[in-house]
Amino acid sequence: MTDKNSKNYKFQAEVTQLLDILTHSLYTHRDIFIRELISNAADALDKARFKTTTGEEIADPDLNLEIRIDLDKDKKMLTISDTGIGMTKDELIKNIGTIARSGTSEFLKQISKDKDKNREINLIGRFGVGFYSVFMAGEKVEITTKSAVKEEPAYIWTSDGRGAFEIQPAAGTVKRGTSIKVFLRKDAEEFAEKYTVQHAIEKYSNFVAFPVKLDDEQINKVTAIWREPKSALKDEQYNEFFKFIARQQEEPLDRFHFSADVPIQFHSLLFVPKSNFELMGFGREEDGIHLFVKRVMVDSHAKDILPPYLRFVRGVLESDDLPLNISRETLQENPYLFKIKNTLISKYLSHLQDFSKDEEKYKEFWKQHGRILKEGYNDYTHKEKIADLFRFNSSKCANGDELISLQTYVDRMPEKHDEIYYFSGSDRESLGNNPVMDIFKSKDIEVLYCYDPIDEFVLSGLVDYKDKKFVSVDQADISKLGDVPSKDQEKTPEAKPEETKELDKLARRIKDILGVRVEDVKLSARLVGSPAVLVSSNKGMSGQMEKIMHLYNQDVKLSPKIMEINKKHPMILNMLKIYQKDVKDPVLTKLVNSLFHSIALLDGSLQDPHEMAAQIQELLAETSKLYLKED
Ligand code: ADP
Repeated sequence: MTDKNSKNYKFQAEVTQLLDILTHSLYTHRDIFIRELISNAADALDKARFKTTTGEEIADPDLNLEIRIDLDKDKKMLTISDTGIGMTKDELIKNIGTIARSGTSEFLKQISKDKDKNREINLIGRFGVGFYSVFMAGEKVEITTKSAVKEEPAYIWTSDGRGAFEIQPAAGTVKRGTSIKVFLRKDAEEFAEKYTVQHAIEKYSNFVAFPVKLDDEQINKVTAIWREPKSALKDEQYNEFFKFIARQQEEPLDRFHFSADVPIQFHSLLFVPKSNFELMGFGREEDGIHLFVKRVMVDSHAKDILPPYLRFVRGVLESDDLPLNISRETLQENPYLFKIKNTLISKYLSHLQDFSKDEEKYKEFWKQHGRILKEGYNDYTHKEKIADLFRFNSSKCANGDELISLQTYVDRMPEKHDEIYYFSGSDRESLGNNPVMDIFKSKDIEVLYCYDPIDEFVLSGLVDYKDKKFVSVDQADISKLGDVPSKDQEKTPEAKPEETKELDKLARRIKDILGVRVEDVKLSARLVGSPAVLVSSNKGMSGQMEKIMHLYNQDVKLSPKIMEINKKHPMILNMLKIYQKDVKDPVLTKLVNSLFHSIALLDGSLQDPHEMAAQIQELLAETSKLYLKED
């Protein structure tokens, strides 16, 4: 058919790629295309209703706001129509023909990689590509659409989903809205059966806020379950509702149903999903929550109701005290909404605290959403409540899987202590074996282990918890630990004053040898079994924080650290003897260099592993020679 008014267009490459996957995949839940088309229709109806409530004039204002699905078994056809906002020609080309959403290419990568595409395809609507799922069932699709803008003409869009589409003006009078004809594939003819389609509507679209009529019969219930008393609702109803708003098949991990009356009135129903999509590499969660005013959905993606650190939450907020005819922009500045938000956040955080009492479930929650929740460290209004929700692994945990709260840490810390110690690094082993931990282990002082780079920002951002300051172990003032009895009483006697003087001299010689590689060399009070360690000066950032900054910005140079030596360690005492024999002994220089390299390695700040290897080999050659001589 080559009408002279019709024009052909190519799909954007990503669309073609996606369509190729969709038409060829053996996806088991093809009925989700019904969910996606109904959801688009409902969005379009919302937009139309929103325009009328804000006083804008629209085409055909008297049309009922509804969604219709009509089946034609003989022609193997399904038609879904709405009286929503419709599309202009430009909108047709832009909206249905391109994908302009962040995360799409990741989505495509994931779905083409995964053999079992069920999970990804089920998420299709979340990535702003839901419409294309129609080609899982249709071999040809025809969209007739008339924009709500009064003078705009109607258009027909057709495509077989194979790389191109065609647009032409529609003949005759077309009323506002969109009608999508799906010519079913041979293997998808069941979607012309009432039973199949009704089942899909009930499964996915029961809570759509507009009537969904199938061959003239209304199928969905249109209930605002968040306005109902908790006692009237069953778990299944909640779960079904969650699956609907979150477009997921999994049940939620947790829910919070809360209504307030005086002085502010609102209803809310919030859910925590079982999995976090950001963790799966799908880009930032941006769904927001559904905002209703007097039963009208004013925003299906209200992003500013909950703070960014709760962006994994899905749900609904409704208040009858908000003005209906207000734009989304000014709504955000509404002082009443501001109060609602504050109450809601505070109540919700308290709820999460209750939820955390179920340790197993909370652990699951923390694994999925903790990473995002931690960003709440800079919400000063709710600082205490948020800090209560944080969890860490610690030196006293039985294994790397166990988590404790800050409250637990404080409950079991020595009475007079006023600092909470933490240590950042990649894993439990390397943190536990770092010599910086010597004194904490020997004095049995608990240290929080921070494996996530953000932890360091979180703790230094929080500053303190219950008046106890957060301090990185490599910056701790060791004298503060003095009154805590050591677990294994120190075995070797204290060095004599003359010896200490000599050791001080040795320290200065070591500093000479190492030059600018260290800020200073000092006798240590923190070491027990290790000969030496690198620590950060307690003025600047902790060592780990510096490493992170360096990773992000190479201009941030790693500042030299302080080397502390253990005055009781036999190796240090041997060095002292060599030093006393000959201040300039080249063996001393080699030993110092090697010692420095090995502690830099433990500290994670070793710059040149080749140099280190060369020196070790040189030392090995010499010691083996020595050994043979002694024989
Ligand atoms: P999403 O709905 O997540 O944005 P889709 O691929 O499903 O992604 O749809 C793309 C766009 O096409 C929508 O954002 C909307 O602008 C437009 N659209 C789709 N269906 C309709 C419809 N029934 N009425 C009006 N516009 C629609």
